[in-house]
Amino acid sequence: MNKNIAVIRGDGIGPEIVNQAIKILDKVAELYGHSFSYTDVDMGGCAIDKYGDPLPQSELDKCTGADSVLLGAVGGPKWNDVPGDRRPEKGLLRLRAGMGVYSNNRPAKIWAQLADASPLRKEIVEKGIDFIIVRELIGGIYFGEHKTEDKDGLAVATDILKYDEKEIERIGRIGFETAQKRNKKLCSVEKSNVLDSSRLWKKVMHRLADEYPDVELSDMLVDNCAMQIVKNPAQFDVVVTENMFGDILSDEASMITGSIGMIPSSSLGATSCGLYEPIHGSAPDIAGKDLANPVGTILSAAMMLRFSFDMAKEADAIEKAVSDYLDAGYRTADIMSEGMKQVGCEECGRIILENIK
Ligand code: NAD
Repeated sequence: MNKNIAVIRGDGIGPEIVNQAIKILDKVAELYGHSFSYTDVDMGGCAIDKYGDPLPQSELDKCTGADSVLLGAVGGPKWNDVPGDRRPEKGLLRLRAGMGVYSNNRPAKIWAQLADASPLRKEIVEKGIDFIIVRELIGGIYFGEHKTEDKDGLAVATDILKYDEKEIERIGRIGFETAQKRNKKLCSVEKSNVLDSSRLWKKVMHRLADEYPDVELSDMLVDNCAMQIVKNPAQFDVVVTENMFGDILSDEASMITGSIGMIPSSSLGATSCGLYEPIHGSAPDIAGKDLANPVGTILSAAMMLRFSFDMAKEADAIEKAVSDYLDAGYRTADIMSEGMKQVGCEECGRIILENIK
């Protein structure tokens, strides 16, 4: 198969981790008879420096014209004082909206080899952590009107949270369909005791439930969900939630599995062209020091092969290579523990590459 992948290296550790993932993709292409070509895209701080814009239309066009997009991370202190509408993160929001990727899927799965890295007590971890958060990605408060005004000498800031039932229904369907492929349990998370948008969310989810009788639907308030993720994560199979709640809960879920550097994500819409990225940011504190963990990006590339290119055995090969790397006792600094062998970003990528069969 021939595939063109738009590659956004971005800022901070972005280039280091994406380069490792590309080496792995090239090896997979060679072993399994595919051809991957790459189109470089500037987004984030580096695009602000070059064009004065975190994602010019020409760069977005390269992404929508590709078969899928692989992203490292964007942002950093250098661009902290850039005005709100030109910040690196705006490029990311524009990319998600421009690609129409409304569903962000983040697995929260503990690798058996890293069980000790979880901050949770052993007896909680032993019950297993293996769930997916399906987060609505292009609606809600992040995309509502934002304004700060002066009212009689008092600064007043407003952010609007709006969802219509169609937006809720399409992400709800992804939640139900994801649950159908797993253990058939879907937990819908909202704040219906306070928010109108959440009451509509709950109503739509229950309406949809009639169409998916094989899936057991439950409701949970977001504050309770935040507690349950650390108290008893084994209860979850698939969680579906709106944009901001999903943003916060998925970071929490990533921490209980060990390191933020290990977790991939996929964002999909109505077509097979998806956006694949690790869940962490640009980690400016370790950028350029060969300390970054590239595994989240490498596993994001595997997700791309599985979900956008229908290459399941190739994705399995990458995941197995990562597992073998961990089995052999190699660890980057973020997940280092006693008795293990510490490696840098390059070395980690090289060992995983050698493990690909
Ligand atoms: P971060 O995820 O970049 O870093 C948080 C901590 O985790 C840091 O100590 C960092 O060193 C560590 N870390 C993150 N990824 C790692 C990896 N792969 N290997 C080893 N350690 C890793 O979050 P932050 O510090 O809050 O944000 C830094 C910048 O990234 C900000 O400008 C923020 O806006 C941006 N950001 C971008 C994205 C994105 O591009 N999708 C997401 C989140 C934050």
